Amino acid sequence: MKRKQLFYFLPALLLIASPLSAQPVPASVMKFHRKCILIDTHNDVLSELTMRGHDISNWLRVGNTDLPRLKQGGVDVQFFSVWCDGSYGKGRAFNYANEEIDSLMSIIKRNHGKIALAKNYEDIMQDVRQGKLAAMIGVEGGHMIEGRLDYLDSLYRRGMRYMTLTWNNSNGWATSAVDETYHRDSLKHLGLTDFGKEVVHRMNQLGVMVDLAHVGRQTFFDAIHTSTKPVIVSHSCVYKICPVARNLRDDQIRAVKKNSGVICVNFYSGFVDSNYQHKVDAFIAEYRPEVDSLEHIKHESANDAAFEILTPEEKQSLRPPLSLLIDHIDYIVKMIGIDYVGIGSDFDGAESYPLGLDDVTDYPKITEALLQRGYSKKDIRKILGGNVLRVIKANMD
Ligand SMILES: [Zn+2]
Repeated sequence: MKRKQLFYFLPALLLIASPLSAQPVPASVMKFHRKCILIDTHNDVLSELTMRGHDISNWLRVGNTDLPRLKQGGVDVQFFSVWCDGSYGKGRAFNYANEEIDSLMSIIKRNHGKIALAKNYEDIMQDVRQGKLAAMIGVEGGHMIEGRLDYLDSLYRRGMRYMTLTWNNSNGWATSAVDETYHRDSLKHLGLTDFGKEVVHRMNQLGVMVDLAHVGRQTFFDAIHTSTKPVIVSHSCVYKICPVARNLRDDQIRAVKKNSGVICVNFYSGFVDSNYQHKVDAFIAEYRPEVDSLEHIKHESANDAAFEILTPEEKQSLRPPLSLLIDHIDYIVKMIGIDYVGIGSDFDGAESYPLGLDDVTDYPKITEALLQRGYSKKDIRKILGGNVLRVIKANMD
């Protein structure tokens, strides 16, 4: 999910949140939460705030993410998504990716002692010991290598440690979930091409995790059969609970276990809750003329246009309960065991999240909800970061 406008979380919203989400997390839970290594594998703050001139060194009143709030939320490792949409073609996409990485490097430079770029397991553990945020780079969309292995190598040298083979747009060598589902007949190829397989091999060689979020089923299975290393699905949910094109079906979930990979659940309301889009569509119908004109003037999606119009109460009414997000984790754990699930929030990449999850300070609520669901502390450590650490180690050692 990517939105095109800022979503201001008004303090007033907190007053009408559910009783559970309004209550502070107990100190004993906070203490345990802080001891865990928390890894979030997908955050869009670079595109959403940094590239628009906001300095995330400071506590911001906009967006979901900044360094002080990451600290407060107990985040130890943050994968920063480097992203541009498919309209950035050859000659632009790779440059833009580099500019986005530059923006992260300047944040790191200005916040010496608080955040450092991590390129492998040892870097992460050193940053954790020193109380720094370990910043990692995930490039979201294979179109940013512009069909060139030397560009892949170059992004690796700058710190890229996962690459999502496609975003919503397909590229010359891999097809996306959106295209495989809705534009199948117009695709020039389906799945990974021979060059796509070369890309996966090169990623394995370098130690760049193969990310299968956003890709179509054919690309998913082609890539997971090609990769010699465990894959990551950096921000996706369960299709059986919420049937949207880019959530994972049962056979895909089982394939991740077989590959020893990890699925990091996405917090976006539209991927968590199968009723969400129906409810948004009802509002879009109600506000049709306004939505149409905003879509036309600002070239934004109907959802984004609607969110500019909806009242805080209306936005609040669209949010699923946090328990539904936990159901996605539960589903994966019950199907394939505790060792293959993680957290991939998509904060600053979507217009709505479950009740209680307003920004990155709210991660302790996930820990609390998992404890309430009966998960042991050992299992929660795996979900919050242990499983992703295992995959990082397997790819980068
Ligand atoms: Zn995404």
